Amino acid sequence: MRQYKTIQVSKRVIDRVRCNCCARLIQDEEYFSAVKHWGYRSPYDTEVHAMDVCTDCYEKWIRSFAVSPVLEEESQSEEGCI
Ligand SMILES: [Zn+2]
Repeated sequence: MRQYKTIQVSKRVIDRVRCNCCARLIQDEEYFSAVKHWGYRSPYDTEVHAMDVCTDCYEKWIRSFAVSPVLEEESQSEEGCI
């Protein structure tokens, strides 16, 4: 027979998220996030970069890309998206 008791556990949760581009608080909306652990042969030798970008800044950013990051429907199925 098991007897249970209630315990309290501390947990780290995200409190605020600020856009890396415009510094606006964005935790209550959709935003882009990425974390990159750079390797030895990169210009950022072993640094870890993390970013959160609001949709407005993301739109400006991807417009500067030579190749769109938006996958076409056919490409999505090739990537194995469910
Ligand atoms: Zn922004």
